[in-house]
Amino acid sequence: MTLDLFHPDSDPGQAPGRYAPSPTGRLHLGNLRTALLAWRSARDRDAPFLMRIEDIDSGRSREQWVEVQLDELRQIGLDWDGEPVRQSDRHDLYREALAKLEADGLLYECFCTRAEIREAASAPHGELPEGAYPGTCRELTAAERGERRASGRPPALRVRAAGARVGFEDHTCGRVEKTLDDFVVRRNDGDFAYNLAVTVDDAEQGVGEVVRGSDLLDTTPRQLWLYDRLGLAAPARFSHVPLMLGEDGERLAKRHGAITLEEQTDVGKSPDEVRKELLASLEIA
Ligand code: GLU
Repeated sequence: MTLDLFHPDSDPGQAPGRYAPSPTGRLHLGNLRTALLAWRSARDRDAPFLMRIEDIDSGRSREQWVEVQLDELRQIGLDWDGEPVRQSDRHDLYREALAKLEADGLLYECFCTRAEIREAASAPHGELPEGAYPGTCRELTAAERGERRASGRPPALRVRAAGARVGFEDHTCGRVEKTLDDFVVRRNDGDFAYNLAVTVDDAEQGVGEVVRGSDLLDTTPRQLWLYDRLGLAAPARFSHVPLMLGEDGERLAKRHGAITLEEQTDVGKSPDEVRKELLASLEIA
């Protein structure tokens, strides 16, 4: 099947790299390793490195973690250019992007609950991948929308992307292809969705290289679709690096013991030793 959109891996030159932590707790060793890789890749190219606080999720972000995370990053040797930017200061940019999508007829209100989506998504529906939003609210009439609004349930906003085939060449993982569904760009609690904010920000900040954990590999085709529809330049390179795993092969979690920098220094390691171990864990020190 041919792709509607394919993004090749190209040389970012000296365009900035970035790290974009969400202030929802201490960074764990996996986050720190990803941050180190992103930083080192930018500095190896003599490029600026930007820090962006992704405090977009108002329910989970806490102010107290912002400084803690920045301090952890400094301790393992990262530096960045300029002041960190914060997504909570950038709502106007996200609103503008939504207005453009709206003007182009690409948005619609979705009143579905999670449970309804789960139920509907488990039924087979043609081309879309498993778990995809089945398009329940896509063709609601104005009267149906009015009825749902009157019931007091606030709508999320979704984009009309269903069925689009998007691919890209990831610098680490190789070729990735995905069929999109109608994904959320504004949640029903009013928060802007990650995919919208990250696309707007990476474009507005002129980011040339995105290095992040491979848990986000699946989000990139959605972002590429948004770059395209918003008329924004996508970063030249995406590199989704391996997640750090515990000894049991599972994603790093509290039960794996000392997984934060603080816990590591508590057991007698210096931040510099932690940094070396993190880099050695990928055999790239
Ligand atoms: N804020 C995201 C996280 O902490 C990272 C987003 C990104 O790098 O695009 O998982």
